[in-house]
Amino acid sequence: MALRIFSKRIVNACTLQVPQSKKSFLLYDGKNVSSSCFFSEWKGTEPLSEDDPEMWKLIQEEKHRQTNGLELIASENFASRSCLEALGSCLNNKYSEGYPGLRYYGGTEVIDKIELLCQERALKAFRLDPENWGVNVQPYSGSPANFAAYTALLKPHDRLMGLDLPDGGHLTHGFMNDQKRISATSIYFESMGYKLNPESGLIDYDKLEDMAKLYRPKLIIAGTSAYSRLLDYKRFRQICDEVKAVLLADIAHISGLIAADVIPTPFDYADVVTTTTHKTLRGGRAGMIFFRKGKKSTDKNGKEIKYDFQQKIDFAVFPNLQGGPHNHGIASVAVALKQAMSPEFRQYQEQVLKNAKAMANALINRGYTLVSGGTDNHLLLLDLRPKGLDGARLECVMNNTNITANKNTCPGDKSALVPGGVRLGAPALTSRNFKEKDFEQVVEFIHRAVQIALEVKGKSGQTVKEFKAFLETDEDMKNKVNLLRKDVELFASQFPMPGFHDH
Ligand SMILES: *Cc1c(COP(=O)(O)O)cnc(C)c1O
Repeated sequence: MALRIFSKRIVNACTLQVPQSKKSFLLYDGKNVSSSCFFSEWKGTEPLSEDDPEMWKLIQEEKHRQTNGLELIASENFASRSCLEALGSCLNNKYSEGYPGLRYYGGTEVIDKIELLCQERALKAFRLDPENWGVNVQPYSGSPANFAAYTALLKPHDRLMGLDLPDGGHLTHGFMNDQKRISATSIYFESMGYKLNPESGLIDYDKLEDMAKLYRPKLIIAGTSAYSRLLDYKRFRQICDEVKAVLLADIAHISGLIAADVIPTPFDYADVVTTTTHKTLRGGRAGMIFFRKGKKSTDKNGKEIKYDFQQKIDFAVFPNLQGGPHNHGIASVAVALKQAMSPEFRQYQEQVLKNAKAMANALINRGYTLVSGGTDNHLLLLDLRPKGLDGARLECVMNNTNITANKNTCPGDKSALVPGGVRLGAPALTSRNFKEKDFEQVVEFIHRAVQIALEVKGKSGQTVKEFKAFLETDEDMKNKVNLLRKDVELFASQFPMPGFHDH
């Protein structure tokens, strides 16, 4: 009886959720209906399209959006087919708390090999000597990697400094406002931000040095999420040495560029390096922590002093913060790291730099203003304030035309909700084989979006809400948006999409 009621509920769920195209197939093929809805033992052998058509359809929708849109979010990328295969593999099933050779679960012989291979490739990809550097590949993502590094290197309420969030830092480098400590970094540790010089748009190293001498942080973070220039790691090292702080480089955004050796590496100066693996590195979503090991210095009596980062960092990741490693993620990172050592990957990253520059130049040629005046990496910050516009309104128009980017604060901005700029990145579209001239076309589309935004701003009320309402109801504006979206989609859909082999 219970089973009958249960089955009936599933039938209802099935008929409700089956998309129109699949419905006739299911209703027509009675056998199929019974196998997917009426069986009493769930076997788990059906493809997603049959087992959960509602979710399958949503994934198709997202695939369509990614293929037909212009992806300019600087932190995003398209992973390769092989990375996605590793992610969708049986490795998802395995528990393996602990580290290779020292696990709390049985059956980890293969997992050990996978994790060791990932570690070996990580050190190789960044040209590190295993005598002097080690790596933990278990962090679930960039944020947990940073928190694990702090947990390892600091005591509760120790002081740290990172680039302020509105100036291009990351939440995990510490953030709070008048009312509230927003980032856990600022709840469990004491954080103080350093700033950009508002005129140059560059990190103000002199001020950082002065502040560090007063604040005496135990840790200084050299890392950014929205900064279009290179970091002066040597200067960071000098400042850290002056105040006896640990230097942590967070290369989440730029790790692919560093692996390809097309921008300077922080490994010559940093003590610890954290990164994500899914941004310019193009792997599955995960994080890594690199740390110095071996000889640190010699004491007065000539005795060797060794780094103690490894024990602390490994213990912070597990058991302090995490449970079972995401072995499917680790495998997909290993695959991406193998790719990162290839000549093709270097070519790709060189193209990322060329494309970001082409996008910057095309914008400047059209009279736009960029924070710091240009770019040396994979992204740029378009300052819309001189045009009488802001990032929130442009982001809104771009979203409606399938150009995806995010609004971003510019130096001197007061509001994070209506900031002055947008952040534009080249990595994702470069993975779709976009070249310089294609990015000039992208700028043409962005320019059209700016024109629409300016027109709507002139005709609608004061608030972004009124702006949105006008944009989505005014016939003339709706036509302009639809026309731009059609042009964008026609253009974008012509480019290949890595990883979508069944597309
Ligand atoms: C993206 C990013 C992170 C966090 O990575 P998640 O994987 O999103 O948790 C950390 N630091 C910097 C500088 C980043 O840009």
